[in-house]
Amino acid sequence: MAKPPYKIEPGERVNLEDLDTGADGGWERDAAEARTLELGKELGELQELLYAAGQHALLLVLQGRDTAGKDGTIRHLLLHLNAQGTSIAPFKVPTPKEIAHDFLWRVHQVTPGRGETTIFNRSHYEDVLVVRVHSLVPEDVWKLRYEAINNFERLLVQSNTIVVKVMLHISKDEQEQRLLEREQETEKAWKLSVGDWKEREHWDAYTKAYEAALERCSEIPWHVVPADKKWFRNLAVTELLVETLRPYRDGWMEKLAKLGETAKAELAEYRATQP
Ligand code: ADP
Repeated sequence: MAKPPYKIEPGERVNLEDLDTGADGGWERDAAEARTLELGKELGELQELLYAAGQHALLLVLQGRDTAGKDGTIRHLLLHLNAQGTSIAPFKVPTPKEIAHDFLWRVHQVTPGRGETTIFNRSHYEDVLVVRVHSLVPEDVWKLRYEAINNFERLLVQSNTIVVKVMLHISKDEQEQRLLEREQETEKAWKLSVGDWKEREHWDAYTKAYEAALERCSEIPWHVVPADKKWFRNLAVTELLVETLRPYRDGWMEKLAKLGETAKAELAEYRATQP
């Protein structure tokens, strides 16, 4: 089996059962945490360049079942990302106004502009996940959405948005553990929701819906991140972002050098006019 995180190539068939939720890439926890810290610093530097150069936007799409660790991943990334230029966009049950529009309307409004970084906590994929599982719209409506999503994401990429799509992949047992922990630990109890236990009854339907989304929307590849071990999840997501941004570094540095030269020339011209 390929090394985790598992990258879904365009056209690839996906069987989530085959992808190990507990994988750790052979890392020991201490070493993984040290490496994550190093990568986190590099991520911060790269994001700073993205921000200053203002040529590209960064969009991280985070999906995963309840308790998969979307909030925890975001908390972790925010240790390294600069609050200036970073935003989090959570997607909840659509409001009446949102539902009165096409499903991408609310999504497009919160995509990052050049220089900005946005993390989607859930995303437009809910419209082919929860919506499909619970038949919130007829099948002939949600079926068309895969193509609409591909077109939308292609448009973002054509407009210089770097799109990274992550599915946090946990096991059914790990989900049960995490839900039970919420009952036992006071500081986690606020997250308790009977809805999460109810959604669990639809585990297999969600598996099918996720597999369809991963297969049909793989033009911009998905990365399935094993998420039973939170420390490996943090390492994998941080590394993925760093590896995605690194190839842009030289171009951004070049742009910054040019901006610096222009600013210096303007300053010299201004000084020359001074008595
Ligand atoms: P969290 O993301 O932390 O679980 P909530 O408990 O508020 O936050 O859950 C958000 C809920 O909104 C989820 O159950 C999700 O399935 C639902 N949701 C998100 N987008 C849509 C959508 N387009 N249609 C219906 N439900 C949605």
